[in-house]
Amino acid sequence: MTAFAVLMAFQRETEALAQVMGRLEWDQQTVMPPGAARQRAEEMAALESVLHARRSDPRLADWIAGAAPPDAAGARALALIGREHARATRIPLRLAAETARVTSLAQGVWAEARAGDDVGRFLPVLAEVVALKREAAAALADGAEGQDARYDALLDEYEPGATAAGLAAMFAELRPRLVALRARILGVGRTPPALAGRFPAEAQLRLAREVAGVFGYDFGRGRIDLAVHPFSSGSGSDVRITTRIDEADPLGCLYSTIHETGHAAYEQAIDTAHALTPLGRGVSMGVHESQSRLYENQIGRSRAFASWLHGAMARSFGDAGAAGPEALYAAANRVVPGFVRTEADEVHYNLHILMRFDLERDLVAGRLETGDLEAAWNDRFAADFGVAVDRPAHGLLQDVHWSAGVFGYFPTYTLGNLYAACLWQALAADLPEAEAMVAAGRLGPVTGWLRERLQRHGGLAPPRETIARACGFAPAAEPLLAYLEAKFGALYRL
Ligand code: ZN
Repeated sequence: MTAFAVLMAFQRETEALAQVMGRLEWDQQTVMPPGAARQRAEEMAALESVLHARRSDPRLADWIAGAAPPDAAGARALALIGREHARATRIPLRLAAETARVTSLAQGVWAEARAGDDVGRFLPVLAEVVALKREAAAALADGAEGQDARYDALLDEYEPGATAAGLAAMFAELRPRLVALRARILGVGRTPPALAGRFPAEAQLRLAREVAGVFGYDFGRGRIDLAVHPFSSGSGSDVRITTRIDEADPLGCLYSTIHETGHAAYEQAIDTAHALTPLGRGVSMGVHESQSRLYENQIGRSRAFASWLHGAMARSFGDAGAAGPEALYAAANRVVPGFVRTEADEVHYNLHILMRFDLERDLVAGRLETGDLEAAWNDRFAADFGVAVDRPAHGLLQDVHWSAGVFGYFPTYTLGNLYAACLWQALAADLPEAEAMVAAGRLGPVTGWLRERLQRHGGLAPPRETIARACGFAPAAEPLLAYLEAKFGALYRL
């Protein structure tokens, strides 16, 4: 066997084990009995040790050096394996296993603290997580200097090639026009009514399944379950999503489901030839988020989709809770300075992200300590949103990310929004009949465009290039700003 073939066979087993690890995480968030938390933490640490040993295996360096990839896809896979190997060798085995153990426990503590609105319960374990991630960031930065060198090292895991400085410059371009748009909307002084009624959980879940199917989710290779924090998990032929239900507000479940369907559809669409290789997963979280946000917002929250959805909701609940499609469209796009990121409207959403981005950069750099985090969060929230956080579950405790040791991930949400708007602009130009199709609930040609242009290629090209190739132009902030200003300008008659 050639060095390349040996390397790819070894990598295939590593990828398979990583999928097993993801499935254990899925299990933990959905069906694991609460008494299993400590044992699960040990199981995760054990599996992480195996994975880490494989990713940092010294033989990899020899195989990579001796490998002659047969084609461009092989060369790209080789580069990605080399990149992962370089990162893994910088993290000591003890740190990898300890991080897996502590973050597994911390997620359970976070869920309890959130349920009980108890920040004090969460902070000690968060301090442990932050200490571990600072150590990892320092190791990954490998001596690089600069105020964001350590944060960049963590960011690189989720968005290869991106830097905090580059993202901050882009966010600075978004911020003034977002803030101005928000002020004009709130200045109108009228908010469309939310949906009225009660929407039984079983009916919501049935509708969520129907809608996921309309967006192209393949239930033969996936399933939907309930979790505290909606997520999607897995690649290839086992890609699962979760959602959550509030009987007073069916739109939370619906749009969470559509969002996660976007993530899952991307994973399910990748060419099977890439399965269990580094090309067989979404190329970055920003590109991933471009799919989920496009499904959720540009399609799901459009006037066209509201006309289909109103009928589906009336069938599911007897009464859609809105007088007609136009009222549903307005309800799905209410602009309110709410507390919770995952429930935020498109105008406020990025302000939630910019705030987390700044806080976690300071945490990783050591400019902020966990003991001061809640005050920093609440101060910034009051400044950006004009209201005081009313309870910790609506503030610092709302997101799972930091308990899971996930730092450097939040900015990929806004990057995804920006990419989504670029893709939508290109798609609408290519498919002038897209709106009519969406109104008819016939999404095949629209999701098919995304599948062909972007999703099926998996990790073949770097993130920015993946977007540029699909769009036919380099990603920029303007399409997102233009989309938001046009949509909300019309909705609120600004
Ligand atoms: Zn997402």
